[in-house]
Amino acid sequence: MNSDQGHEGGCACGRVCLLTREWSAEGGNLCHCMTCRRIHGAPFGVYAIFPRDAVEVTGATRAWASSAMGRRHHCPHCVSPVYLAFDGLDEIEVPTGVFDEIGLYPPEYEIWCRSAEPWHDAQGRPRHAEARAE
Ligand SMILES: [Zn+2]
Ligand SMILES: [Zn+2]
Repeated sequence: MNSDQGHEGGCACGRVCLLTREWSAEGGNLCHCMTCRRIHGAPFGVYAIFPRDAVEVTGATRAWASSAMGRRHHCPHCVSPVYLAFDGLDEIEVPTGVFDEIGLYPPEYEIWCRSAEPWHDAQGRPRHAEARAE
């Protein structure tokens, strides 16, 4: 069902599925913050950012409040992270590893680089020490 209409993805066990309604990502980033490191068990997280209604999620998720506004949703069965949302923001961040296709949504910039691994190569992307200044 992957087409120009959108892209599919989901958790490792398949109980949570995700469909982007259209090619509507507002951008994407690579985050080196300590929470992303631990959530993914990897040195960084990579996210595609969409308007909330551009992403359809089926299957129950459980959310962890990772900050005052941040809600990190995971599959309660296999505990894969599936998306991140912020209270009061019309935005949903999807870890790009969730998608079935390879090569979607390369990150445009990097944040929380003060906790980046020294071996990491940013490949010329803009780097911010902490969150991106708006
Ligand atoms: Zn799962
Ligand atoms: Zn992060």
